[in-house]
Amino acid sequence: MAIPKSVAPWLVVDAEGRAHVEARRCSVCAAILTAPSLACPSCGARGTLQPFMVTPTGRLHSYSIVHRSFPGVTVPFISVVVDMDDGTVLKGNLRGVAPTPDAICFDMPVRLVFDDAGRQDREGNRYVSYFFEAA
Ligand SMILES: [Zn+2]
Repeated sequence: MAIPKSVAPWLVVDAEGRAHVEARRCSVCAAILTAPSLACPSCGARGTLQPFMVTPTGRLHSYSIVHRSFPGVTVPFISVVVDMDDGTVLKGNLRGVAPTPDAICFDMPVRLVFDDAGRQDREGNRYVSYFFEAA
């Protein structure tokens, strides 16, 4: 079976199909970013962004319960911003939690999980994505 493709540049899938999130930390100002960049967006230094594997745990910073989306996207779902324990900030979807404010707490511990993104491209390639679940 073919190795699934990544849905984002910061989601790295190795030759065995294992996934992790990779971010970059500036060696001058310690800013962290996920998207590849030629220069640090915080201090402007070039060649100072060092890749590292993002820790798989964090805490919920904010969320939005989405009731309308593109055709074919199952709603409702919970879009979240998570402060990872290493300082990285990631946006993603929270799953395994009821999409109601009563079930979601700010600062709740969450963990990264990797799973099939639930879609294929025209060539039949599968995609892997990351999600958050309550820790
Ligand atoms: Zn910097």
